[in-house]
Amino acid sequence: MRDEPIGELAVAGLEELSPELISLMDGIVAQTSLRLEALRLNEELQKRAEQLQELDRLKTSFLANMSHELRTPLNSILGFADVMLEGIDGPLTENMINDLQLIQKNGQHLLNLINDVLDMAKIEAGRMNLSVERFQLMDLLEEVVSLTSSLASERDNALFIEPDADPTIEIVADRTRIRQVLLNLVNNSIKFTEHGKISINVERYGQLVRMTVRDTGIGIPPEKLEDIFKEFTQVDTSTTRKSGGTGLGLPISRRLVEMHGGRLWAESSGIPGEGSTFFIELPSEAVITQSVETKKG
Ligand code: ADP
Repeated sequence: MRDEPIGELAVAGLEELSPELISLMDGIVAQTSLRLEALRLNEELQKRAEQLQELDRLKTSFLANMSHELRTPLNSILGFADVMLEGIDGPLTENMINDLQLIQKNGQHLLNLINDVLDMAKIEAGRMNLSVERFQLMDLLEEVVSLTSSLASERDNALFIEPDADPTIEIVADRTRIRQVLLNLVNNSIKFTEHGKISINVERYGQLVRMTVRDTGIGIPPEKLEDIFKEFTQVDTSTTRKSGGTGLGLPISRRLVEMHGGRLWAESSGIPGEGSTFFIELPSEAVITQSVETKKG
């Protein structure tokens, strides 16, 4: 409460004020000033909330624009590194090849980071538009396996779809975004597993469809199973620095699944070798919680 007058209560037409009247007026003054103060605070809060909303909007549009501006020159850097590696500009020494490969690796990492930051900003601003279509999950799983299999074998991992996975399941969802989630989970499993196994499964689970990505890698301590879904959280920053992650993959994936009306979570004993299992549960027809376009056909 402010220690300064905020108004005056005047009484007209009376020659003398009785003590009862004075105490009654004291009561009225106290009540009124409380009410006025509450109104003033309310107004101030509302103004602050509007200012915060505006700041949030500015932050998102700044991030979206920045990401775009950063991506354009970066794509050009990656493109020219590619051209040189292909030998189009002339023969290269071994050192040159090494350096160019480093430019590519780090450039790609930066591009992933920019893409993730942009996705997160869009989700937070409610501007991530999903575009749903009907598709077969088995096709998608096969696509994900073919995109990640060379990385898996580089780390001596067997990557496969479980033989009892149901090939008939269709869902209505944003194919590109579900692919992004699966790619993120499978890439993580590969990153945190060596000389092991990564298996993918899909099955009906009541009214829902459940996909799992299971690995035999280093596992996740049970007390960290929720933390890893928070932005920029990694179990062990030294391992991750080695494996080059952004710490945004899982939070984005969870939000994308939730936007379909589904759930994403992980289970692990935390014992190395016993690995981790990531579960995606989706309604067979996405219950989109945000703006959505439907693809025809
Ligand atoms: P990033 O992989 O880019 O660091 P994510 O959000 O995808 O970010 O993952 C966050 C963290 O969760 C990882 O850094 C890692 O510590 C842990 N994690 C995710 N998947 C696995 C997995 N399959 N096995 C072990 N740890 C994992």
